[in-house]
Amino acid sequence: MNQLRKQPWFRPAVTCGLLLACLPGRGSTATWSVRAQPARLVNGAPVLFQVKAPAKLESLTGSWLGHQFSFSYNASTRTWFALAGVSLETAPGRYTLELTGARTGTKAPFTFSRQFLVAHASYPKIKVELTVEKKFTEPTPEQLRQIEEGKKIKQDYLNRVTPDRQWAGAFTAPADAPISDVFGSQRIFNGKAQSPHLGLDFRVPAGTPVAAMNSGTVLLARPLYFEGNFVVLDHGQGLLTLYLHLSEFKVKEGDLVKRGDVIGLSGGTGRATGPHLHVAVRWQGVNLDPARLMQLALP
Ligand SMILES: [Zn+2]
Repeated sequence: MNQLRKQPWFRPAVTCGLLLACLPGRGSTATWSVRAQPARLVNGAPVLFQVKAPAKLESLTGSWLGHQFSFSYNASTRTWFALAGVSLETAPGRYTLELTGARTGTKAPFTFSRQFLVAHASYPKIKVELTVEKKFTEPTPEQLRQIEEGKKIKQDYLNRVTPDRQWAGAFTAPADAPISDVFGSQRIFNGKAQSPHLGLDFRVPAGTPVAAMNSGTVLLARPLYFEGNFVVLDHGQGLLTLYLHLSEFKVKEGDLVKRGDVIGLSGGTGRATGPHLHVAVRWQGVNLDPARLMQLALP
């Protein structure tokens, strides 16, 4: 007894903590493991959620920032994965990812939730005075009609969510060229502040081949007022990539493309100050930073 009393008072607690941490396997089979890539989430960024469930699931869905989405299963790593995103407008704070799994032979919901911290990303405020033709800042009635038509087409197509995933592996650059404007920067046209730059610009001369950033289906390949010759690829599960100001189309709507396939040639059609390639990424109607998407190591 005397021996025991001489033990430091904190000893049992420390031993207990170590035991819990060291028990092999017990925690990993009984609990969910949910990871985000990148680990630090910011507004405007895509995120890869990877989930290991404590039971065999038939399907897994997620709810995040008001969006519902489904996960794919990687049998070799026994991991469920899905791409999602955080809108540019999302305020810093803690947000919950709710997971719902379906198990064979049971209708009971199998759920788990985890909070993620979203930090504030600082995007450049480049106050560059750009001169754009008057038809883009003070359009005529006929031009207004074309603008309205373009708006309707974009509303119809750019918020689509097709259930099957077509993307696989990393998203790659559509051109091997320097970046001339990043996502999120603030631009000014004819002295008037515009909404933030919602894409990534590549400095390419007209006629440069533009490659598909991943596999998908051509959702749009048509001229629009602001976008010029415009190609949109649907990679499935609500993920789209957009290619603007092309001089020429190399695909048509409905075509299947693989990563690296040439979808068009660069140009300066639509609202552009000169030839360049503007690419954009949308997830369920949310604009995401293409540069950050390309940095993700994807399954
Ligand atoms: Zn741009």
